[in-house]
Amino acid sequence: MSRRFFRNNLRVVVSVAMFTFGFGPGMAADQEARPFKPVRNVLVVTLDGMRWQEVFNGMSADLLTQKEGGVSDAAKKSIEGRFGATAPEQRREKLMPYLWTVVAKTGQVFGDPSKGSDARVTNGMRFSYPGYNEILSGFPDPRIDSNDRKPNPNVTVLEWLNGRPGFTGKIAAFASWELLPWILNTERSHIPANGDGAPIADAKTERERAINEFAADLPPYWGETRADAPTGFGALEYLKKNRPRVLYVMLGETDEWAHGRRYDLYLDAAWRNDRFIRKLWETAQSMPEYSGKTALVLATDHGRGNTGENWTGHGEKVPESDQIWMAVMAPGIAPLGARSGMNVTQSQVAATIAMLLGEDYNTAQPKAARPLKLN
Ligand SMILES: [Zn+2]
Repeated sequence: MSRRFFRNNLRVVVSVAMFTFGFGPGMAADQEARPFKPVRNVLVVTLDGMRWQEVFNGMSADLLTQKEGGVSDAAKKSIEGRFGATAPEQRREKLMPYLWTVVAKTGQVFGDPSKGSDARVTNGMRFSYPGYNEILSGFPDPRIDSNDRKPNPNVTVLEWLNGRPGFTGKIAAFASWELLPWILNTERSHIPANGDGAPIADAKTERERAINEFAADLPPYWGETRADAPTGFGALEYLKKNRPRVLYVMLGETDEWAHGRRYDLYLDAAWRNDRFIRKLWETAQSMPEYSGKTALVLATDHGRGNTGENWTGHGEKVPESDQIWMAVMAPGIAPLGARSGMNVTQSQVAATIAMLLGEDYNTAQPKAARPLKLN
């Protein structure tokens, strides 16, 4: 037997064994995210405490009451006219038209229980700072157990990317919540993080000054959280002027209106957030740096209660508030819409952002969960 003959036959035997016993590349591909062509930029938007119930089923008529939803008869009529429909698919499309007619059509949405899917927070605390840490660091951290102004001990995926070749100085974040600079540990990370005050740091043009003046004239209704409008306008102007490769926008009104038991204004905020996402995406697509080479990641920091009484709340005493949703749209990913039979966690978002950019966050941060499987 010649050596060559032996080698060839050995290869056949090994191939047959792999096929027969189910080893080999097929199995690995099932469990691991398959690589695809990386994009140049990622836009990340989070909607604070936005429930999966409305994302997948739209407006819930049960909450359109004075008692459960704080909704007056006049507001009920108007909200029903805007967001009411018989089928959940119609209702969700009325509430979040961009998510359902564009993002879901060309990308993927995770966490739809009616499709046997499940998206979860793993930090056990189910409120904001622990959730944003899990989203951005890729793992839950029991040290982050309050919304206090403490610098995040963890290096977030944004800070890590900021140290990678080609990304330095090209990462920025805007938030409606004042805690943003602590969550991103800006003292250490040096990531521009606009979370309160004037949305445009160095306003020079007439338009920029007008946006800042308008923002300063809005009522400070919630203290730590500003309205989403200045956050969105600040982020859009920053995108046009500075062309960051990663832009993170943390919107906050949905959580505030829900805590205030105003279901009508919670729904309106979700609808305006969806309109902002469209504007952000379309603005990016109109610029050569972004057109055809940008991904969008949508997520939330926590869920909320599931009853007429506790839909306003979340946290350790509301176990079901660990159930969330997330979405990804990018050129080259399979347009699978609402995913079936997929269990995912909030901790997968960080490595997903890096993977979309062709970067491997898991090697740098072994505690981080693996990226979402998109293909
Ligand atoms: Zn909250």
